[in-house]
Amino acid sequence: MRISVDEARELWEASDEELIRRANEVRDRFHDPKRATYMVMRIINYTNVCVAQCDYCAFYVLPNQQGGYVLSRDEVFAKIDELVEFGGDLVGFNGGFNPRLPLDYYCDLFASVRERYGDRVEFYALTIAEFVFLADRARLSYAEAAARLRDAGVHWVTGGGSEILTEDFRARHAKWKYTVADYFAAQRAIVESGMRTTATMVIGFDETLDERLEHLQRTRDFQDETGGLFSFLCWTYKPYGTAFGGREISPQEYRRWIALSRIFLDNVKHVRTSVLTQNEGAFRALDYGADDFDLPIEDEVTQKAGARIDLDLEGLLAIPRRLGYTVEYRRAERPAALAPS
Ligand code: SF4
Repeated sequence: MRISVDEARELWEASDEELIRRANEVRDRFHDPKRATYMVMRIINYTNVCVAQCDYCAFYVLPNQQGGYVLSRDEVFAKIDELVEFGGDLVGFNGGFNPRLPLDYYCDLFASVRERYGDRVEFYALTIAEFVFLADRARLSYAEAAARLRDAGVHWVTGGGSEILTEDFRARHAKWKYTVADYFAAQRAIVESGMRTTATMVIGFDETLDERLEHLQRTRDFQDETGGLFSFLCWTYKPYGTAFGGREISPQEYRRWIALSRIFLDNVKHVRTSVLTQNEGAFRALDYGADDFDLPIEDEVTQKAGARIDLDLEGLLAIPRRLGYTVEYRRAERPAALAPS
């Protein structure tokens, strides 16, 4: 049975046992209870130059400041080749809002990656947040910009960069990034273009419980309307080196939020736990309703804010196995609407 925001607020006070039981009722509707899937992936941070100035970010430099970079095509290829050597096949491109990079830069980059790797490597081209920025700068509608990316060989634009999707949160921490209304309008255009997308959430700033619940409500509504969300991934804010600062939330709070999200998002198939920000502790979230995870080999954005990456992938996979799960590799799929004819 679907729960309301009021019921979710009450459930947040429940015991861990109750949350686990309810979360697994929903998980079991979609998945084998003792099976988890995973991917080996790498975020390629193609530029750190950004004008958005989010106060929770330790990654960016402003244009003309020292230390700014844009990766060359060869540097991007070398990073993908290294990922393949690690056994991975998923790249997430994620960078700053760099005003010197026009839409054509992205289309050329993504077309060259598709040409070189075909379907052997899948890539999440951008986050919705970057997509909003570059469509606006190109003075294109979201539908027109989405079509340009799709025609350049892009299959996925992920829901990254969403943190907490309330207008108040955006105004407090990221007022130049996007509005929530723009975010969902852009994500809708991605879905309508035939590409696929995902939902994400970051917790542990200063957001209230009501703000977290509003984020889940908006996500569930979007999925009801479009069916375009493949998965929901939640990770935790890393405060080190950021202007906002703060402290990390506890692993237990993270797991409980995974459980509540699993219960609330009854229309999203996959709920993913974050090895990038929770390390070994991420796997315990499988007991709280998560069914899938990434093993990332790089993400400069979170690493700059304190995330630690463990490259002993077999050692990591041994942990969910010890918890009683079989783990299976999951390849990123090409969306059905973009299947070759
Ligand atoms: S989080 Fe992204 S958009 Fe915000 S300042 Fe950092 S790089 Fe820029």
